[in-house]
Amino acid sequence: MLSTLLLIFKALGLTFKQLTIHLSLVLTPRLHRLTYRSVPHPKNIVIIGASFAGYHAARRLASTVPTGYRVVIIERNSHFQLTWVLPRFSVVGGHEHKAFIPYKGYLAPVAEGAYTWVNGSVGSVIVSDGDAPKGQGKVVLGESGEEIEFEYLVVATGAVASGLPSRVGVMTKVEGMKVLVGEQERIRAARDVVVLGGGAAGVEMAGDVKERYPEKNVTLVHSRERLLNRGYGEGLSRRALEGLEGLGVTVLLGERVVDGDHNLTGEVRLKSGGVVKCDCLVKCVGQRPNSGLVAKVSPLSVTESGHIRVRPSLQLADEACSRIYAAGDVIEVNTVQNARGALQQAEVVARNIVRAIKGKRLVVYRPNWWESATKLTLGLKKSVMYMSDGSAELIVSTKSKEELDSARVWKYFGLKPFNDTSKEKTI
Ligand SMILES: Cc1cc2nc3c(=O)[nH]c(=O)nc-3n(C[C@H](O)[C@H](O)[C@H](O)COP(=O)(O)OP(=O)(O)OC[C@H]3O[C@@H](n4cnc5c(N)ncnc54)[C@H](O)[C@@H]3O)c2cc1C
Repeated sequence: MLSTLLLIFKALGLTFKQLTIHLSLVLTPRLHRLTYRSVPHPKNIVIIGASFAGYHAARRLASTVPTGYRVVIIERNSHFQLTWVLPRFSVVGGHEHKAFIPYKGYLAPVAEGAYTWVNGSVGSVIVSDGDAPKGQGKVVLGESGEEIEFEYLVVATGAVASGLPSRVGVMTKVEGMKVLVGEQERIRAARDVVVLGGGAAGVEMAGDVKERYPEKNVTLVHSRERLLNRGYGEGLSRRALEGLEGLGVTVLLGERVVDGDHNLTGEVRLKSGGVVKCDCLVKCVGQRPNSGLVAKVSPLSVTESGHIRVRPSLQLADEACSRIYAAGDVIEVNTVQNARGALQQAEVVARNIVRAIKGKRLVVYRPNWWESATKLTLGLKKSVMYMSDGSAELIVSTKSKEELDSARVWKYFGLKPFNDTSKEKTI
């Protein structure tokens, strides 16, 4: 009881902290514009990937870099792809465009010349040797072979998955909307849906499918004994189980699907020997860190799980790559990996690069207790807000809109929801 009260007070304190973070986000670029001057041939701070980690690092760096430096953002997708809404938009139609947020709105307030944007894919990273400062180097674009030199590099390449509902898996908005509509049709046509994986994406997906189509059989198969076992408390696991069973989802815990082609047999076989009818398998497992670029340049810095091994300053563990930093889903951290954590890591990376330029001592990243806070949908109408500081859990029932928080994220990135003035708009 006391620990819950303490958590409530901490959560209230957090509102104040969020306010100061917001104020700093608004004021910093304005102040920076007063002093920053664009110069010919500036030194580059290259960022690979502009999702939560990279895009935020870009905003922070472009609002704080000294004259003589500029930020170069290299992102392969045409739009910011909002993962949070993918399970919902894989089931419910009419909102697909809201998952694709035009880029650059978030960078609108920064000084002229403080950044440049490259729509492309980095194929390799080369670290200079010889007399060049340790870790300095260049990135090579995959398609054109163009080389871009860097003084500092931020790797924010995130994670990859086999497709929906964890990642869109294609690079343009037009293609992405088609992929979402295709998934909606696949689910609509199915009778027996099996969802693999009881993390947040699996729970949300199973709840949405069952509530949208109560006549379908929906089974969630999870290999562990409780849902949401990675990084979340038992209270949330119980609430998720009750929510799904209340909707009529069959939840199989401590079970695995073994190989077998459900497209041919119309069923999946379980490790325990059981069989579940299945004409639509939705995989919410197998997300992998996208660390291939770093694995080639510094095998030392990649763990067995494929995550990038970083120092507390978020520089690569490898001393030879001290000018390379990493943040987001691609790094190894001892906490839940989500957008909140990615933003915090991006803050530290941006601060440290500016501090390194100025010859100051680097700061360290320590995961904050509130980074694991999350909102989880349990079907189309209900959701819960969850927070835990390790001693207590706070779970508050909330209602959610069909489009979820997509409008809020558009506004956060400096745009009017859902006004996309870029050329590529509709299917
Ligand atoms: C279904 C789902 C729901 C979620 N819901 C929430 C939630 O409610 N709250 C929350 O906080 N978190 C949530 N998360 C987690 C959150 O989405 C991730 O933690 C977050 O996206 C990580 O951001 P990131 O920047 O590290 O990487 P990613 O989002 O994986 O993005 C990596 C970026 O790098 C780019 N890239 C990769 N390689 C290259 C290259 N070679 N060249 C150029 N660009 C490249 C990619 O195109 C991409 O834009 C959810 C995740 C999923 C899957």
